[in-house]
Amino acid sequence: MSYQVLARKYRPANFQELEGQEHVLRALVNALDNDRLHHAYLFTGTRGVGKTTIARILAKCLNCEEGVSAKPCGECSTCVEIAEGRSVDLIEVDAASRTKVEDTRELLDNVQYMPTRNRFKVYLIDEVQMLSNHSFNALLKTLEEPPEHVKFLLATTDPKKLPVTVLSRCLQFNLKNLSAERVVKYLRKVLTAEDVAFEESALWQLGRAADGSMRDALSLTDQAISFGNNSVNDEDVKTMLGSIDHREMYHMINCLIEKDAGALLDKISALAEFAPDYTMLLSELLSVLHRVAVAQAVPDSVDNSQGDQELVLAVAESMSREDVQLFYQIGLIGQRDLPFSPEPRTGFEMIVLRMLAFTPSSLSTGEVQDIADLKKKTATLEKSDNKVADVIASLDKKTENKEKASNIDRPDQSEQVELQTSEDQSVSRSSELQDTAETAETEETEDPEFDPSEVSADSSAIPVDSGPESAEDAAELEPKNWVKILPKLGLTGVTLSLASNCVLRSVTGPDCQLVLNEHHASLWNNAHETRIGSALSRMFGTELKVSVTIGQPEAATPAEVDALNQQKAHARAVELIENDEKVKQIVESFDGRLERETIAARQKKTGD
Ligand SMILES: [Zn+2]
Repeated sequence: MSYQVLARKYRPANFQELEGQEHVLRALVNALDNDRLHHAYLFTGTRGVGKTTIARILAKCLNCEEGVSAKPCGECSTCVEIAEGRSVDLIEVDAASRTKVEDTRELLDNVQYMPTRNRFKVYLIDEVQMLSNHSFNALLKTLEEPPEHVKFLLATTDPKKLPVTVLSRCLQFNLKNLSAERVVKYLRKVLTAEDVAFEESALWQLGRAADGSMRDALSLTDQAISFGNNSVNDEDVKTMLGSIDHREMYHMINCLIEKDAGALLDKISALAEFAPDYTMLLSELLSVLHRVAVAQAVPDSVDNSQGDQELVLAVAESMSREDVQLFYQIGLIGQRDLPFSPEPRTGFEMIVLRMLAFTPSSLSTGEVQDIADLKKKTATLEKSDNKVADVIASLDKKTENKEKASNIDRPDQSEQVELQTSEDQSVSRSSELQDTAETAETEETEDPEFDPSEVSADSSAIPVDSGPESAEDAAELEPKNWVKILPKLGLTGVTLSLASNCVLRSVTGPDCQLVLNEHHASLWNNAHETRIGSALSRMFGTELKVSVTIGQPEAATPAEVDALNQQKAHARAVELIENDEKVKQIVESFDGRLERETIAARQKKTGD
């Protein structure tokens, strides 16, 4: 008897022999046993997962002379004819080669005729997505009103290309890719039956190379048997596939764990002899790292579907989670950059060397512990309403950023880690303007040593009235009280802005003289004068008349006082942060620097 290829010889004859796809088989078996048959079935999945095999078995189930059942006898003439591909009532069409509408029409014209010998006329259309639109229309007509004696079994690798009208009239089954573990198990069975010697590791190579397709796996095994002269061994399969063995990845990862750059480069030059696809190599490395990360998070979830369960668990134990994440991230970014490298091999070498270069070994566990402590302390500080808490809370966020930066994606070690301004800081900075005067005053009483003249010689020249504030002070309409009166006037918008650039020069009876700083007078008009006048009248319960002259105010305007207080608050915040021991420690540990302009004194909450 002539040699029959394994894929054909070991094609399953019934559902029990079929490897995998249990979810589909269960549905089919139940339908057959309960006699709830649909008139059209669609099997989807990649090549070689068993679409047409299942369809042929289903045809046997439908037409077996012993009766419709999930277990066709396999011996009656119908079963034998179907197995040998010569049943008159099983019409197999490969749509890839019959796309013309005439062909399909001719095919479907015969639908109305009763089956020649069997119960059903079964149409098995493979690669159905290849039919032309006209063919689909012809098919659709039949699917809409199918004769009792007809069953359609459609198979496709690409169901997205099918018209929805066809899809909706079929019972759809998605076939899964077979895991390498499953393929290896089956190959073991086949090779034992064939009496071919084999090495387990060779089977895993074949199983992975088959990429989920049993047919590919069996074809490759056929090839390996002839290549190895009736045996399947590791070396031969490796040479035959021209692929990099999965285990090489673990050797490489081991070099990374041991931080042995020399061994790592030796490994790569050994691999280079196989002229590997470095992009694939990197993907393999990433997929191993992914499995390791999963193993670290959920050790029980690691299966042996790739035949490397033990290795994955071993690596998971000997690597820190941070390292795994770091290597993965570097590899991922490397994948993007690999096409830009002058040579794929040098690009790949740079990526793995980068993994070594950025291993955060310099960061001792003690320091990490310190930072964790700092966070806890910071949290308690915030609760205890310490004023440092306000300014340091924002730093807490930055600490996290820095940790990430140093662990995962630090672009350049020599570069200083820059603290980023978070959005909420800038928002709070602008919103706090209105209230800074109060904040600064409170802070000043708390810290008598603070000298505003240190802030800026220029602005300290302006006399600032920052004495204790009370309702009575504000109630007296005197030039020195203008700074306190203004916020209580209830002015808004441009009027408020203009008024805060004024000083109250004199009050004579009902006449109030204001001087508007000439540098801020561009928006001035008389309407604002009236508005300020009526606001003052309302506040003091008497008719007051305001006249504004534009010039050089003799004293500090509320706007200037505000700006100065803000400066003071900022200087105070900077001072507190710079002198904080923990902050100093962080800056030192991470070789960082403080960006002063990102520090903002927070607005005191009402009721504080
Ligand atoms: Zn039969």
